[in-house]
Amino acid sequence: NVRVRYAPSPTGIPHIGNIRTAMFDWLYARHTGGTFIVRIEDTDKNREVEGGIDLQLDALRWYGLDWDEGPGVGGAYGPYIQSERLHFYQKYADELIAAGKAYRAYDSEERLKSMREEQQKRGLPTGYDRRHRYLTDEERAEYEKSGAPSVVRFAVPTEGKTTYVDAVYGEIAFENRVLDDAILLKSDGYPTYHLASVVDDHLMEITHVLRGEDWIPSSPLHVQLYRAFGWDAPTFVHLPNMMGPDGKKFGKRNGAKDAMEYGQEGYLVEAMFNFMSLQGWSPKEERDLFSREELVERFSLEGILNRSPITDPVKLDWFNGQYIRSMSLHDLAERCLPFLQKAGFAEENPSAETLEYIGRVLALEQERIKTLAEAPILGGFFLQADDAYEFDEKAVAKWFSNPGVGDRLRAVKEDFAALKDFDAASVEAVVRDVIARFEVKGGEVIHPVRVSVSGRTTGPGLFEMIEVLGRERVLRRLDRALS
Ligand code: GLU
Repeated sequence: NVRVRYAPSPTGIPHIGNIRTAMFDWLYARHTGGTFIVRIEDTDKNREVEGGIDLQLDALRWYGLDWDEGPGVGGAYGPYIQSERLHFYQKYADELIAAGKAYRAYDSEERLKSMREEQQKRGLPTGYDRRHRYLTDEERAEYEKSGAPSVVRFAVPTEGKTTYVDAVYGEIAFENRVLDDAILLKSDGYPTYHLASVVDDHLMEITHVLRGEDWIPSSPLHVQLYRAFGWDAPTFVHLPNMMGPDGKKFGKRNGAKDAMEYGQEGYLVEAMFNFMSLQGWSPKEERDLFSREELVERFSLEGILNRSPITDPVKLDWFNGQYIRSMSLHDLAERCLPFLQKAGFAEENPSAETLEYIGRVLALEQERIKTLAEAPILGGFFLQADDAYEFDEKAVAKWFSNPGVGDRLRAVKEDFAALKDFDAASVEAVVRDVIARFEVKGGEVIHPVRVSVSGRTTGPGLFEMIEVLGRERVLRRLDRALS
């Protein structure tokens, strides 16, 4: 039974790369009928931010990554917040000490500092010099008696090699002489990441550890810890870092956003999910669009790539556009509503009629918008009151300066009022007829009409736009422009 965990630290809004890890965890659990666990790694109190746990959980919720065990859900392996599990880490640290596989080190800060300086000066690799690993019994007793604060360090093997088989990168080998006697338990009784994650992954019976490739250097230490405890290690599944289009690690500087910004900027969760699933994993099919269900069906560890994907925000826009185009107008209207409300173009609880109107407005934009956030920019004037949409001053100056424009607009208005059916084709016939009657260029009627009803010179096709606005709005707007 597959058990995977996403183990965020509550240090801020998650990076999109972390969400990708969570997504792969979730996909693998759902594909195998396994269990997806969320565990909060809050053992570094200095880096924790207020509300940090909720920031993590909210992001998981937004992406639809529901967890089977973890905060708020519970489970048989809890608690799922590491700061509530300190007794476990202390117990296991003691166990290692008793077995001679870990030891207390009493080094003062100053001692460690001068040690590091010396190492740097002599060009040696920095790391603990193991002075307290080899204390005599008397020296140790002396330190204990003095009440000096201490940490627990891991007595790593200093010879030989540590090897394991990573599910993505294959065999990974490290010379043990490069390993550090890492701190397992800090002097305040909190564990370090290494001890806490190994103990928890064991106690929570995690079968596969999915995490970013940045953790590969820590993995030999973890393998050795499993060995020291006499436990089987889970399968390590390191995920390649995402790279931006410039070939550098994907971050704020080359186009990445915080996990929650995408939704705020009008990206659909369906598009995000699809796009992100393909960052470092491939279904090996000649298509790009996959629903969540299709991804669950196809996901496999074998499909995870051992090279960095280039994560291109332009490609994400394409995905988002595809999903926007495939939506029903009703859904599209509902999804755009928060953006329209935020811009002040829609009420809190719009009527079904308004929602339907919004849908018809969006139908004019559905083919070209890339994000939901564009809805108010492109469609705002449709929804504003007939005396409230703004006129683009340049457009007014250009198209309303000609003295004949009033007569032409009045003619259009009268014929609109008399039309039997107010559809795009009839509207077009009226406009063409006025152009012919006044013997002017098309633009001399078309542009003033457009500016009159929308306030601007750009937008969807004029006749379709007028049909959607409807006769009443259009007549009122022509009146406003004429006054
Ligand atoms: N707490 C670690 C992090 O924030 C988790 C690493 C792991 O998955 O082992 O990245």
